[in-house]
Amino acid sequence: MTKDQTTNYGFGTNAIHVGAPIDPHTGAVIEPVSLSTTFAQSEPSKPLGIYEYSRSANPNRDNFEIAVAKLENAKYALALASGSATTALIIQSLPVNSHIVSSGDVYGGTHRYFTKVANTHGVEATFVGDLVKDLKSNLRENTKLVWLETPSNPTLKVTNINKVKEILNEHESVTGNKVLLVVDNTFLSPYISNPLNFGADIVIHSVTKYINGHSDVVMGVLAVNDDELHEKLRFLQNAIGSIPSPFDSWLAHRGLKTLHLRVKQASESALKIAEYLSSHSKVSLVNYPGLKTHENHDVVLKQHRNGLGGGMISFRINGGAQAASVFTSSTKLFTLAESLGGIESLIEVPAIMTHGGIPKAERESNGVYDDLVRISVGIEETDDLLADIEQALERV
Ligand SMILES: *Cc1c(COP(=O)(O)O)cnc(C)c1O
Repeated sequence: MTKDQTTNYGFGTNAIHVGAPIDPHTGAVIEPVSLSTTFAQSEPSKPLGIYEYSRSANPNRDNFEIAVAKLENAKYALALASGSATTALIIQSLPVNSHIVSSGDVYGGTHRYFTKVANTHGVEATFVGDLVKDLKSNLRENTKLVWLETPSNPTLKVTNINKVKEILNEHESVTGNKVLLVVDNTFLSPYISNPLNFGADIVIHSVTKYINGHSDVVMGVLAVNDDELHEKLRFLQNAIGSIPSPFDSWLAHRGLKTLHLRVKQASESALKIAEYLSSHSKVSLVNYPGLKTHENHDVVLKQHRNGLGGGMISFRINGGAQAASVFTSSTKLFTLAESLGGIESLIEVPAIMTHGGIPKAERESNGVYDDLVRISVGIEETDDLLADIEQALERV
């Protein structure tokens, strides 16, 4: 029995069936974990099947990649050892003396890579507050790539991908220089948004977050449509060896099959929590893309499925760093920890945790003050989560 992968099914159906063939030998509905590092050949250089050596390709990784490509509306996907390895691979594909422009409030590890690693192999980064406003004046002769995170981390600013692409298209038509647009789609997952549809050349994810979704795998993935770009990145990955294990690929693929249910539930709870926080006297500001009051809500309605805001919220609490510390130490269901996108709710203070490595002035210019709290809404019961936030706010 083969599965029909050509019909135009909805997201949830594709998440479950694409890249999930029934095993032709045993009939197993769920693929086995394929641990073999090497694959037999019948004659020198004539493999029995399509595999030779597991760094180059592995059945579990292939199946996961096929599924992600489908869900990101891409031709190809490439799974990597981590989200950070994905970033590193893309930057290493650039020639020396390249320049990149990045949104300012990117993931802390991305900022660290751009400022402390990329420069050691001749790639320089410029950070701008708002890509739509500030990109054009920051493009140089040697600009090769634009890095965009939407919604941004942790202030959840939403950027119009299409507008950024228009600026790059205009730049290309004037100078002849092609600049790649990379979108880090980790915060939304492919269920809420597909950046390639809006003009991105590469979409990336930390699979560690929503795609795996169970806080038990560190992995990354990228997806592209361009044949040449895909070839180049796959070649580089094989040369560098930044691959995920078969077991992690298998686990992440299992997680992916429930992505639509998890993200829908997290978004639904997050909207209620964001509304509750917005009306609370101890909260001075709420950043949540699903709120109608969000400054880029018009873009959210265009770029996000059903205007969903996702599971991430950040807010400023009255009483400074001390209040943020008391609040985040008082929740019972929201675990005080870094990371996001899992089934369990998490809470953290970006200024001294995830974004602690960014200089204070730069951090604050991006809205990351000492009193900013970031939460990742999990899929527990909404009322229980609301009650937990309420009791913790009472302690502040
Ligand atoms: C976590 C994260 C990364 C890095 O991914 P790892 O899997 O931890 O290496 C990159 N971008 C965003 C937005 C993230 O949240």
